Amino acid sequence: MPNFAIAVLPGDGIGPDVVAEGLKVLRAAEAKLEGVTFSTAEFLVGAGEYLRSGDPLPEATFTEIAKYSTILLGAMGLPNIRWADGREMAPQIDIREKLGLYCGLRPIVLYHPNDTPLKGKTAIDFALVRESTEGLFVSRLVPYSLQADQVTDELRITRSGAERVIRSAFHLAAGRRKKVTLVDKANVLPSMAYFRSIFDQIAAEFPDIATERVYVDACALYLVQRPESFDVLVTENMFGDILSDLAAALVGGMGMAPSADIGDTHAVFQPSHGSAPDIAGKGIANPVATILSVALMLDWLDHPETRRGAEMIRRAVSTVFADPTARTVDMGGALTTTEMGSRIAEAV
Ligand code: ATP
Repeated sequence: MPNFAIAVLPGDGIGPDVVAEGLKVLRAAEAKLEGVTFSTAEFLVGAGEYLRSGDPLPEATFTEIAKYSTILLGAMGLPNIRWADGREMAPQIDIREKLGLYCGLRPIVLYHPNDTPLKGKTAIDFALVRESTEGLFVSRLVPYSLQADQVTDELRITRSGAERVIRSAFHLAAGRRKKVTLVDKANVLPSMAYFRSIFDQIAAEFPDIATERVYVDACALYLVQRPESFDVLVTENMFGDILSDLAAALVGGMGMAPSADIGDTHAVFQPSHGSAPDIAGKGIANPVATILSVALMLDWLDHPETRRGAEMIRRAVSTVFADPTARTVDMGGALTTTEMGSRIAEAV
């Protein structure tokens, strides 16, 4: 019987709390599935590990983690623990880049009409695909000086990097409502005009998928005005970073936004939010983003039973959310992190 081995990296802040609930729901699903099991191995990575060993992602730990194709991650980094030049440590981004996890998938689903700040919207269901290895993030490790007269960041689009992420978006749309929206700034930036030309070439390979091209500023407007018109959106790293927070706000906030960073050999599943130090240790973090990330992980494992498990988890979230009072504090309710996790596990 297949066993799926998962590396678990709880990380910092609220990471360990939400990961515990994700695993609780995974175990509840496992008990209902036939012929598949999950084994987990936990690794210490993040600001806490930096304080312990002087390195947030020790090479030996990374080598061990890389032996697992499936990785479940909580959240990493703490605002007061930084490198000497002031940058926050981001081992979760290091892992993404080292493992070549180019497809940043962020599904945005409204589970109950009460949870959107948009008047009259009842159905929001789209997926943002964020390129996650290049774009405006390529300069993030370049040394700089605060005393310099200027500092420049590079926005890099490579043909192979663009092709693989755009193709992923089309494959995703083929199994959904068959529409891909390209989000760029092709009217201003040469790198974005290049990105668009590659999009156009790939779109021609998928004649039954509808396409749309929008500038990133207009996209921010349309996401608020007509979120129901989107199916799959594909965009550059930084644009995706920003729009995914906006998109999360449409369905209840960061606590409702799961993510998968997918490459050709590995994938990392984690909530879209960070370590939320303002609420860490209070037991009130919303674990739903992590629980929905576990569902994405089960989809990705791509076995009929794990796919059934993913559906079970999403249905359980729907069942719990049908009662508009069953919410954590960030969404106006009173449930604690563990209470929300237990309700979803029971519904599974
Ligand atoms: P990063 O840069 O790593 O994405 P950040 O510091 O920008 O992180 P988050 O840690 O995502 O931001 O938190 C932003 C806000 O959202 C905070 O006020 C935090 O309390 C809230 N928040 C984030 N995640 C959750 C959650 N799971 N439950 C409740 N509130 C959350």
